[in-house]
Amino acid sequence: MKIAHDFHMHTSLSLCAEKTANVKEYVESAKKAGFEKLGFANHFWDAAIPGANDFYVPQHYDHVESMKPEIEEAKKSGLTLYFGCECEYDPYRHGVACTPEVAEKFEFMIVPNSHTHMMMPKDYYHPYEKHAEFMVNAYEEILNSEVAKYITGMAHPFEAVACPYDRAILIGLIKEDVFKRLFTLQAEKGIAFEINLSCLDQKKPEEFAASDRFKMFRLAKDCGCQFIFGTDIHSSAKYAAGVADAAMKGANLVAEMLGLREEDIIEIAKCAITHLRTIPVILSKAKNPFSKLGERILRPPTQPAGRVVASG
Ligand SMILES: [Zn+2]
Ligand SMILES: [Zn+2]
Repeated sequence: MKIAHDFHMHTSLSLCAEKTANVKEYVESAKKAGFEKLGFANHFWDAAIPGANDFYVPQHYDHVESMKPEIEEAKKSGLTLYFGCECEYDPYRHGVACTPEVAEKFEFMIVPNSHTHMMMPKDYYHPYEKHAEFMVNAYEEILNSEVAKYITGMAHPFEAVACPYDRAILIGLIKEDVFKRLFTLQAEKGIAFEINLSCLDQKKPEEFAASDRFKMFRLAKDCGCQFIFGTDIHSSAKYAAGVADAAMKGANLVAEMLGLREEDIIEIAKCAITHLRTIPVILSKAKNPFSKLGERILRPPTQPAGRVVASG
């Protein structure tokens, strides 16, 4: 199956992104590289939740929502575009920095357990076990949060951002049965595991296959998690200058190595063309198979995220 989505893209609205990062340029290069669906996930902290730091205070809902016209305009390209966010883990309330009322306004949401450079006390960096344990607890709290049903995927799981040492060490410190417990819960909640392409190093496929990171991906799959892919790109100029092409290759290589099938990809990220090819009979029988395409990502309140089954 082909992976043709990128659901982790930052525009200039993210304070850490390039000032020129824009939807139009992303869409043009994504189209050239063969992507079909893009998801914009700027950094976000709901103003109704206390505790935002200086980085997050300006990145409230009105701020991230201001990109909607840009997305609407870029839909003329024919690509499927989603308005989402990368909402922060809230260590003070042991949950996610978003109220259900605001979570509902996004078409998708990804949440990281690994922005430890901002969310973790500095003295937790040592010993390494303390850092790893912080991420394990954060992961579980996100999965059990009151907005869990609105979460599409876990952003760059266990990839400690701006870690002062090799962050891959931390993944190796976490016991297999701890990962299994977390990933089983995650699968039950219908929350996808993000394969963050910025985490893929320049290793050869066989070296990568032997890494703790890849073993973690495999455990997530074995526990029944679905997947979502994202570049975590912060620059549309870099996307145009080769990142989009490299991401297309990288995503499909990892998907092949993991043996991902159609059912392993979370619903809103599925490749439309593959999807149509694999279910032509059902589609032709459906009354109006396209009427709900745009609504598919809006999760009915009675169903957990990711459990929405395509109409076709
Ligand atoms: Zn992140
Ligand atoms: Zn990001």
